[in-house]
Amino acid sequence: MEKKNIDWANIGFSYQQTDKRYVSNYKNGAWDEGALIEDDTITISECAGVLQYAQTIFEGLKAYTTEKGQIVIFRPDLNAERLEDSARRIEMPVFPKERFVDAVVKTIEANEAYVPPYGSGATLYVRPYMFGSSPVIGVKPADEYQFRVFTTPVGPYFKGGAKPITIKVSDFDRAAPHGTGHIKAGLNYAMSLHAIVTAHEEGFDENMYLDAGTRTKVEETGGANFLFVTKDNKIVTPKSGSILPSITRRSLMTVAKDYLGLEVEEREVLFDEVKDFAECGLCGTAAVISPVGKINDHGKEICFPSGMDEMGPITKKLYDTLTGIQMGRIEAPEGWIKVIK
Ligand SMILES: *Cc1c(COP(=O)(O)O)cnc(C)c1O
Repeated sequence: MEKKNIDWANIGFSYQQTDKRYVSNYKNGAWDEGALIEDDTITISECAGVLQYAQTIFEGLKAYTTEKGQIVIFRPDLNAERLEDSARRIEMPVFPKERFVDAVVKTIEANEAYVPPYGSGATLYVRPYMFGSSPVIGVKPADEYQFRVFTTPVGPYFKGGAKPITIKVSDFDRAAPHGTGHIKAGLNYAMSLHAIVTAHEEGFDENMYLDAGTRTKVEETGGANFLFVTKDNKIVTPKSGSILPSITRRSLMTVAKDYLGLEVEEREVLFDEVKDFAECGLCGTAAVISPVGKINDHGKEICFPSGMDEMGPITKKLYDTLTGIQMGRIEAPEGWIKVIK
């Protein structure tokens, strides 16, 4: 397979059309068999459920080339399960887990020429999603849906190494208790846009959201979970019903425990204790871990001892071990790596 002539190291993180995408339609209570198609556009009713009442959910994962030259994906079964959970929460039909993984694999195979080579730092980002496609005017779930998977090559998240970022404690809330914060739905992102644009205007990289109920506990950022390291090297991650269960964060907790022998805790984290942590990182598929150097709480700064120049030592070990597992340099736990070819 001849690779596309792309400057892999400099493609950035933006949409670039690839050759094929997977589509399956849900109609009269059933999913059709699905197919790979070439058309990158969608024609739907002007009154489609997704356009009127935001009935849409998504997933995100990456395909990449390992050290041995295999094309692989990381724990797609967890993306499949999470999409099922998201679908149930906003009254969409479930796209079965096995079919999800199969659709992802087929789409990557069909766009193999866009999977970046090992060592380039670039990956093929895979975006499965589903939306209500039939007309809805009175508020109710749509009757028809479309499930799609497209891919787009993306550049290395950190060019020239991961520099610690500065975040602010947001005055906006991301998710309500008993709301939809724990599912991967577009609606959670629409309402975060004003908050992130505001944070950027103020010179911050990201928002730290606190729990909407009491504004005393750490939740997450707009698109990544928090990991903290205590001064005695324990890994702590916030627990809350309104945090999106990041697959990266769950994997890092396993890596911390089983590979690095560290103690791990998933529990409520008061904002008041954040100043006592030694390291802080944001976890998600895109960057694996982005180190946080500084948190600004309405003008009051919390500066982590790890500083603004590089990742903290424990964060770095976690990062190196998980990326080592993903790239095939370190043996993976059973079932974590799915080989495509
Ligand atoms: C997708 C997402 C994450 C990261 O999840 P991963 O599975 O690690 O990519 C974290 N927070 C939110 C709100 C997200 O939507």
